[in-house]
Amino acid sequence: MEVWIDQDLCTGDGLCVEICPPVFELLDDGLAYVKAVGATAISESGEAINKGATGRVLVPAELEDAVVEAAGDCPGECIFID
Ligand code: SF4
Repeated sequence: MEVWIDQDLCTGDGLCVEICPPVFELLDDGLAYVKAVGATAISESGEAINKGATGRVLVPAELEDAVVEAAGDCPGECIFID
């Protein structure tokens, strides 16, 4: 399973981060981004990576249920799963 966020629709409420913090992260711009588990969603230069449909990450099997729950609860309907 892969997941990504359309930041243009994100409300920044942080619900996804509460549900599955290993995969979702709020950055300084107030928007949520996906991250590879154990990694970070910002580059060394401090810019957001994993942005939009091209910034999808692989979800470990044990986190799939939480990611599906986050996508279902997302008020912006902007968490996409493939
Ligand atoms: S739950 Fe959806 S709208 Fe809320 S911060 Fe996460 S991606 Fe953005």
